[in-house]
Amino acid sequence: MLSLDGSHGVVLAADLNVTHATVALCDLAGRPLAETVHELRLTDGPEPLLRWVEQRWRHLLDAAGVGADRVLGLGVGVPGPVDVATGRVVHHTPALPGWRDFPLRDHLERQFGVVCVVDNDANAMALGEYHAEQPAASPLLFVKVATGIGAGVVVDGHVLRGADGAEGDLGHVRIASAEHGPPCVCGARGCLAASASGRALARVLREQGEDVPDSRSVVELALTGHAEATRLVREAGLVVGDVLATAVSLLNPRVLALGGDLALAQDHFVSAVCERLYQRTQPQAARGLRVVASGLGHRAGVVGAARLALEEVLSAEAVDRALAGRRQPVP
Ligand SMILES: [Zn+2]
Repeated sequence: MLSLDGSHGVVLAADLNVTHATVALCDLAGRPLAETVHELRLTDGPEPLLRWVEQRWRHLLDAAGVGADRVLGLGVGVPGPVDVATGRVVHHTPALPGWRDFPLRDHLERQFGVVCVVDNDANAMALGEYHAEQPAASPLLFVKVATGIGAGVVVDGHVLRGADGAEGDLGHVRIASAEHGPPCVCGARGCLAASASGRALARVLREQGEDVPDSRSVVELALTGHAEATRLVREAGLVVGDVLATAVSLLNPRVLALGGDLALAQDHFVSAVCERLYQRTQPQAARGLRVVASGLGHRAGVVGAARLALEEVLSAEAVDRALAGRRQPVP
């Protein structure tokens, strides 16, 4: 039996969120060796954010005593539609002003001289969850509910990709009952994210005088037993479950993994999604379905981003190239 020497090199991973980011140094098995979480705002634009990511990565390498020559690849997850072939955010999204068409991948590859893979955060999380927690669960549907709402699907170990990088953008699915509700960040009314995202719940609670700046603080408040926060998180779970009933009927997944801030409120959010899902799905599609909170929790994003990098670093083509580079010339 052969197995990979996980300590031969490292990959650097970044999971960028609207209000915070996690950066990690991982071994070649995708296990985080060191990681740090920081608050930041993606609305500041790509250049300062990427400078920050580079600094944090170099800091992690220094602190772990790992030379930059041992970095074999980079993986980055961003909360928006990404064209993986070019490593760019491809559509305008209000959460990422100024990011569209910015050469994210090329910029980082220049800085570190190694391959970089950029993907949508929910795709990365789905891939990380599949390989680290649910290796036999195909198809796996991963849904992230945090500031926004997004989804990724993994079939037989591979991310299922759409035609234009917009797959899994569940947040802007229209809910008929919310037609006259508050406007979404995209400008439309009735989007799922306008009534069930962490951003939407935080806004409702702020209007009631609570100090909840973001998605994470909504969940923290619900976990203290706050009646209104609990009710809102549960209500969001029911609405998300409604939309996911369609996704489950379409895909017949083996596992639905829920991630992002709201999934931390398992008893309120995850159980509400489950409840609605089983009410609205045909027994045939739901019988073998397991609905779980992400086993990776807040690490799903970086573990997934590391996995993206590893798929590239350890691909047959990349290994062939590396071997060809080492081969001694024939005398
Ligand atoms: Zn919208």
